[in-house]
Amino acid sequence: MMAQYLALKQQAGDCLLFYRMGDFFELFFDDAKIAAQVLDIALTSRGEHGGAPIPMCGVPVHSAESYLARLIKAGCRVAIAEQVETPEEAKKRGGSKALVARDIVRFVTAGTLTEEALLEPRRANVLAAVCEVRGLIGIAACDISTGRMELEECEPAAMGAALARLGASEIVASEDWADAPFDAVRRPGRGFDSNAGEARLKDLHGVSTLEGFGAFTRPMLAAANGLVDYLDHVGRGRLPLLLPPVARTAGGHMAMDEATRASLEILVSTGGTRKGSLFEAIDRCVTGAGARLLAEDLSAPLTAAPAIRARLELVSWLHDDPLLRGDLRAILKAAPDIGRALGRVVAGRGSPRDLGQLRDGLSEAWRLREVLGARAQRPALAEALLPALGGHGALIDLYVRALVPAPPTERAQGGFIAEGYDAALDELRRAAGNSRRAIAALEAKYRDETGVSALKIRHNGVLGYFIEVPARHADKLMLPDSGFTHRQTMAGAVRFNALALHEEASRIAEAGGHALVAEEAHFEELVAAAFRARKGIAATAAALARIDVACGQAERAAEGGWTLPHVVAEPVLDIAGGRHPVVEAALAARGERFVANDCRLAPEDRLWLVGGPNMGGKSTFLRQNALIVLLAQAGGFVPAEAATIGMVDRLFSRVGASDNLARGRSTFMVEMVETAAILAQASERSFVILDEVGRGTSTYDGLALAWAVVEAVHEVNRCRCLFATHYHELARLAESCDALSLHHVRAREWKGDLVLLHELAEGPADKSYGLAVARLAGVPAPVVKRAKAVLDKLEKGRASTGGLAAGLGDLPLFAAAIEAVEEKVDALRARLNGLDIDALSPREALDLLYELKAQANG
Ligand code: ADP
Repeated sequence: MMAQYLALKQQAGDCLLFYRMGDFFELFFDDAKIAAQVLDIALTSRGEHGGAPIPMCGVPVHSAESYLARLIKAGCRVAIAEQVETPEEAKKRGGSKALVARDIVRFVTAGTLTEEALLEPRRANVLAAVCEVRGLIGIAACDISTGRMELEECEPAAMGAALARLGASEIVASEDWADAPFDAVRRPGRGFDSNAGEARLKDLHGVSTLEGFGAFTRPMLAAANGLVDYLDHVGRGRLPLLLPPVARTAGGHMAMDEATRASLEILVSTGGTRKGSLFEAIDRCVTGAGARLLAEDLSAPLTAAPAIRARLELVSWLHDDPLLRGDLRAILKAAPDIGRALGRVVAGRGSPRDLGQLRDGLSEAWRLREVLGARAQRPALAEALLPALGGHGALIDLYVRALVPAPPTERAQGGFIAEGYDAALDELRRAAGNSRRAIAALEAKYRDETGVSALKIRHNGVLGYFIEVPARHADKLMLPDSGFTHRQTMAGAVRFNALALHEEASRIAEAGGHALVAEEAHFEELVAAAFRARKGIAATAAALARIDVACGQAERAAEGGWTLPHVVAEPVLDIAGGRHPVVEAALAARGERFVANDCRLAPEDRLWLVGGPNMGGKSTFLRQNALIVLLAQAGGFVPAEAATIGMVDRLFSRVGASDNLARGRSTFMVEMVETAAILAQASERSFVILDEVGRGTSTYDGLALAWAVVEAVHEVNRCRCLFATHYHELARLAESCDALSLHHVRAREWKGDLVLLHELAEGPADKSYGLAVARLAGVPAPVVKRAKAVLDKLEKGRASTGGLAAGLGDLPLFAAAIEAVEEKVDALRARLNGLDIDALSPREALDLLYELKAQANG
């Protein structure tokens, strides 16, 4: 047995091997140690190998799914080795001692799950393959639980942002690529071949050219091949549902890097959960598929105005018609997740229940179409979705006739094909039913004959049907001519068989066996019908999800009094009465009111410096505006009274070092790396929020950096920007930067206490209130008092020297300073280039060197 195990383990590689033995999956050696620790189950041992006992542990087959779920969550991958013949077949093949043949039937990995129990209903499960082809990155991503597949290409520097957007639960990359994402599963490099990828996609979708699906580049096709190759490997040759690939074009979506996503807490909050995220605050979808699509929308807001307007128009229509919205949501709520049911069915892991879900989901889609179709003047997007909602009449009809109302998840026991669908099957069931009734009649007859009123006919898995009497009445039945044969003696009862009972029981077994075979054949036909209709069903699933998202957005907007944003081309941002959906919800839960604030950025006033005390609401203000932009471009209403949003191509959000807990590098280093990325990438169409940049270092360094960053953003990037800071000194930038204006969050001291008004006002912050905030936070009174004394001293010093920023106003502006530096370098270069070195004497050369050095020093 060990030889067989070790051979399978070799195939399983770094996956844990679940080795089927009877009713258990057993794990051995290191696999057992890992599993025992993750699952918190007993580690035992058996036999020995190489002189030491073999560690082992096991999980029961019937509850294997929940153990698998925990292992996958802990980051493990699992290979399942099943018995692929029965013990009888093994004996026939190789004699009484023959080992049952086993084979790995599938790999279970985080990115290739389809089981309902292992997937989160409201979260997409993405598998991504990444590769590099001639300096460009190809990414292929799919969600095999629904079959969606997407290909894209990007520069190496943008790979991190693209993967962050996808949020893949598993990434695959070539084993000979040094710069692959560190947590990728490594696969042989030959799997990432673009020609093979093209051929495979054509073959998969039965087309002679991929042009109909989009324009795919070499890196995209290479990644696609890596992806399909991996799926082929984990499914042991059986591919899951894969829909035609979609090419994601650069520029169709708002760019956001990983740091921006994290700091805006779009899908998960800094705590790593959905709680406290933007998604949680706005998700009102009634289906899992809707929630998954909403998450995708928020991860990739659009930059194409017509597409945004189409979504907004649909949301607006549903917003204005609460009755229609209510009707649609009621139907959606009743619709099962047909995308995922289809995924399981096509992957060969479907159950009768999945077919029932397809039937019910497609019927609900049909109803939805009727309701929508009955409305006059539908928005264009509704009109476009309408055809996808119907068109499955024949399939629904087939399933309605073929399946019982609530089909089981297990098909081994049959019972899922409806009566009246197959006359022969009905006949078999009738025969079994008759025999069951005959057996019931036999019980009465045997009681009569024996005079034992306590006689019973019973059934169990080992004996089948048998007659049971209490021990004290057994003698009568033991007599040789009684017509009963003894089978088993228990503590208080004795069990018998009888000819008539045996005959009826055999009839039941035979009819039951035939019925199971017939049901199984029907199941295969019904699966094949779904397989043929897979593209249409997937389109229906997508249409349902889109309608759910729009209804949910409309519902959320109605609930919160949100507004329809106007998306325009000019680089403006005009938000009246804006709110932060997450902070507002948190305050509402405590019975507190959120103070709405305006934000008005335009080309001539595009950089706002926001000052004011800590806890005054600066971060909240910055983020709410970024979130409003994001929500609008994702095609939804926004939490404001009115909003005009100039399309944003890239969104950046950065928080100062001390807000952002350690990530390996020093926090200040992280802050500077991120700031560098903004300065390198932000354009006039971008929107940037910078929160307390420069805080992670000494006061002088910090102020100097913040100063230079603001100037650069103003002069070079020229993007719309909100910059929160507690350096009062930055206010002086308003004198030299004409598109910069000063703002602050208001606070008031009242009877010695600080009152934070959370209200944005024009002008610089008047003082810093740091000590008042400290008092508010509970710093002991003597400490605050001492701090006050120190502060007085410092301020006196400041008055005499002109303060931290003394003289900064005389500095040339950022851009001017750069030009000056460059000029000097060029003068030197010009002189050097003009030299004829061979014509110089040693003395002249030395003099020249002195001269050049003097010139360099300016
Ligand atoms: P800062 O960045 O100025 O230190 P924050 O934006 O972190 O301040 O806000 C601190 C707290 O103040 C928030 O957690 C919230 O409870 C409250 N707050 C912020 N903005 C508002 C607002 N507009 N209305 C009501 N409360 C607010």
